[in-house]
Amino acid sequence: MTYKQEIARRRTFGIISHPDAGKTTLTEKLLLFGGAIQEAGAVKNNKIKKTATSDFMEIERQRGISVATSVLAFIYKDKKINILDTPGHKDFAEDTFRTLTAVDSVIVVIDVAKGVEEQTVKLVEVCRMRKIPMLVFINKMDREGQDAFDLLDELEQKLGLSVTPLSFPIGMGYDFKGIYNIYEKNINLFSGDSKKNIEQTIAFDDVTNPELDRIIGNKAAIELRDNLELVWGVYPEFDKDLYLKGDQQPVFFGSALNNFGVRELLDCFIQIAPTPRSKNAEERLVEANEKEMTGFVFKIHANMDPKHRDRLAFIKIVSGTFERNKPYLHVRQGKNLKFSSPNAFFAEKKEIVDISYPGDIVGLHDTGNFKIGDTLTEGETLHYKGIPSFSPEHFRYINNADPMKSKQLNKGIDQLMDEGVAQLFTLELNGRKVIGTVGALQFEVIQYRLEHEYGAKCSYENFNVYKACWVGTENRKSDEFKEFERVKQKFLAKDKRGQLVFLADSQFSLQMTQQKYPSVKLHFTSEFE
Ligand code: GDP
Repeated sequence: MTYKQEIARRRTFGIISHPDAGKTTLTEKLLLFGGAIQEAGAVKNNKIKKTATSDFMEIERQRGISVATSVLAFIYKDKKINILDTPGHKDFAEDTFRTLTAVDSVIVVIDVAKGVEEQTVKLVEVCRMRKIPMLVFINKMDREGQDAFDLLDELEQKLGLSVTPLSFPIGMGYDFKGIYNIYEKNINLFSGDSKKNIEQTIAFDDVTNPELDRIIGNKAAIELRDNLELVWGVYPEFDKDLYLKGDQQPVFFGSALNNFGVRELLDCFIQIAPTPRSKNAEERLVEANEKEMTGFVFKIHANMDPKHRDRLAFIKIVSGTFERNKPYLHVRQGKNLKFSSPNAFFAEKKEIVDISYPGDIVGLHDTGNFKIGDTLTEGETLHYKGIPSFSPEHFRYINNADPMKSKQLNKGIDQLMDEGVAQLFTLELNGRKVIGTVGALQFEVIQYRLEHEYGAKCSYENFNVYKACWVGTENRKSDEFKEFERVKQKFLAKDKRGQLVFLADSQFSLQMTQQKYPSVKLHFTSEFE
């Protein structure tokens, strides 16, 4: 296969959903189609149990699963499909945001009864801003849920999508008969038998055919005709270019648990979903089909075995081929590195590979060289964009609880921050360290891991912060800026990259600061123009 063909057959995507909508079940069915796994139950759910807050075994279990499911790859109809795992739990939202920088498209799973939920809103917003092509799968059609048109409205209103259904349900819940596949122009009848992998498909390009009444019953046939008329009257025709630009989102209906509508989704997906896309670096736009290898780190995972301090850095290949034992430039460190055992992923296993292509994810063993966002190239100085830090929600001072172990503590904090577990801010005034996290759970993860992996002990102290705001770099020499720096000294800190951050203690003080120092630009993410 030529290099171009290898790129053309790759589809790298993420599945996003609110917890419980059916992401794990859908992933599993997709893998079954690819023949990558043989039985149901093989894909582990990375959900956090409700009791997790104080259960350290749960944290370890969670980390183990998160290694196993980071990338699930399989081949289907000659396409190489890479699914990147995106934790649904809100405490790990940042991990998901970062993973979204490495996908070329996403599938959004919605529960037919619950409709659009909180986590979906946040994740879809990030995808919309980045113009990531999205496909929507409305799941659990075997259950009573909301009316299909109401759901489509909700997708438009709550998620700001421009949807067009590519399939339409016939009945629902107890009365669920199947699906009319608008994309393929056929009808799929639902048997409700989850063991049966292949449902009955009947080609049906003309729904006025009286045969339809015989197959699904007169009442259902009339309803379907009415519904389709409405669909064709109200929704625009599917336009692949609009989808690829992130301006239109096709919708499918089905039931992952019953393996219904999944094949249709997958068959359409491999036809329309983007091949590895070009990516913006600070310096220039990099195309997937360029010859030279470029890639970036979007995830770092610490080894589960505390005796081995090495980690696995996940690199998304943007262009060129990544080869074993070939030297690559680690741009931030300005040094060449060779990798003797790059890992590729297949289903839930990882194996050493000699060559990987754009769209692929490679896992590199790392002893502390990588940070999230690092770029590897064949010599060019490139910095990939799009891996911002967001303002954390919770802040605490972190103190050393064992003075004999301060070196271990600093190293531990450093490495955990590189992994992206949380963010570290160092106060300008006194050098005290403040940890910011998206969820309260991370504080316990950090404390536990510092002790078990680095032999260090920490304690926390409350620190009241409403939002961390990254300070714009313009006008730094102005009098207004100097006054801002002087008056707000107590609230200024540096993040890990040395960027200046204003830690506002309330919404009110943030507003007042913005009013008083209008030329000081405050941003809620670390990346701004
Ligand atoms: P995740 O949290 O999004 O990964 O959701 P899971 O895949 O773990 O599914 C959550 C629950 O919904 C599980 O109990 C599934 O068995 C169930 N579920 C998933 N898909 C369907 C479906 O199509 N119909 C029904 N009735 N239940 C489903």
